[in-house]
Amino acid sequence: MTAFWTEADFDDHELVQVVRDAKSGLTAIIALHSTHLGPGAGGTRFWHYAEPADAMRDALRLSRGMSYKNAMAGLPMGGGKAVILADKDKTKTPEMLAAFADAVEALGGRYVTAEDVGISEADMAAVAQRTQHVSGLPVEGEDTAGGDPGPFTALGIFLGIKAAVRHKLGKDSVEGVHVALQGTGSVGGGVARLLARDGAKLTLSDIHQDRAEALAAELGAATAAPDAIMSVACDVFSPNALGAILDEEGIARLDCQIVAGGANNQLRRPEHGPMLAERGILYAPDYVINAGGIISVTLEYLCRQDKAPCDINEVRKRIALIPGRLERIWQESDRGGGSPDQVADRMAQELIGR
Ligand code: NAD
Repeated sequence: MTAFWTEADFDDHELVQVVRDAKSGLTAIIALHSTHLGPGAGGTRFWHYAEPADAMRDALRLSRGMSYKNAMAGLPMGGGKAVILADKDKTKTPEMLAAFADAVEALGGRYVTAEDVGISEADMAAVAQRTQHVSGLPVEGEDTAGGDPGPFTALGIFLGIKAAVRHKLGKDSVEGVHVALQGTGSVGGGVARLLARDGAKLTLSDIHQDRAEALAAELGAATAAPDAIMSVACDVFSPNALGAILDEEGIARLDCQIVAGGANNQLRRPEHGPMLAERGILYAPDYVINAGGIISVTLEYLCRQDKAPCDINEVRKRIALIPGRLERIWQESDRGGGSPDQVADRMAQELIGR
């Protein structure tokens, strides 16, 4: 068996803890990549892994991603992630969640958890019964930070697309700019509505075609089949569905000047960032442009800890900083600092003192 610290994804993580509770059957891994800027924050994934080593890789990789994302969002949080190793039937019991919550509590606030794939709002509410180190809990009222992160993520992406259009196309408005959107769910749907309001020309696509068609009818947009959206001739391609879509094949199909959307981990591998740049396509690094949701969720947590204002205007103020961050990345890239994803990674590493 290989030791996890010899894994390619091990990046001097500060703490990697295996949590085992024989009574409930819980096996989990909590990985803290960096607490340089604050407690390691990142969701808990509940997943059946073919091999335990796959769970370790996920915990290592995703916790590092959270360090970069939180740092670039200007949040006083580090990067962490937990994975719960589910059995084939994905059996989840209250006892397992309680044992997991106790493990989070035992870390005394060094790790702050949240929902992720396989963990529902109700699961997190159960965890929050035993530890206060939980973010992304439901909130009451529309004037406070927190709640569904989708609309906040969408707002950041809309502002990021406007910045990209300014940088690449020299236009101050998205009026008449053609945006092809992949995915019309919580994030993509929100982005489409904001763009339509400003007069952008839209082509929408979703594997649930009725969803794309209903939104297209509402906004006066066109639609494209899911397997055609990446090759639509447009100004901006906005991925808001799946990750890892930007590989050799995907990049070759693009007929756009800008890629800017909310999907996580859009680049299949690190070499695909420079490949986009070589094609002259401006890329908005995903974890920078899609930070609106994490900003809202984190402020909700900090507000409960009396460490930040609870006001929704504070969330909007911080989301409004996303375009400036992207512009600094693109300028550094234009000066020969590497492709935008490489510049962003370097900036994030500097922020976390690496
Ligand atoms: P969602 O489930 O609400 O929407 C995703 C949509 O994509 C669905 O309508 C789905 O049918 C569609 N889809 C799936 N595969 C597709 C394909 N091949 N072609 C076209 N459409 C496809 O999810 P969401 O919350 O809108 O998140 C979208 C992406 O943004 C995900 O990658 C997510 O990880 C990322 N993200 C979301 C948030 C957030 O606040 N919700 C924050 C950061 C990143």
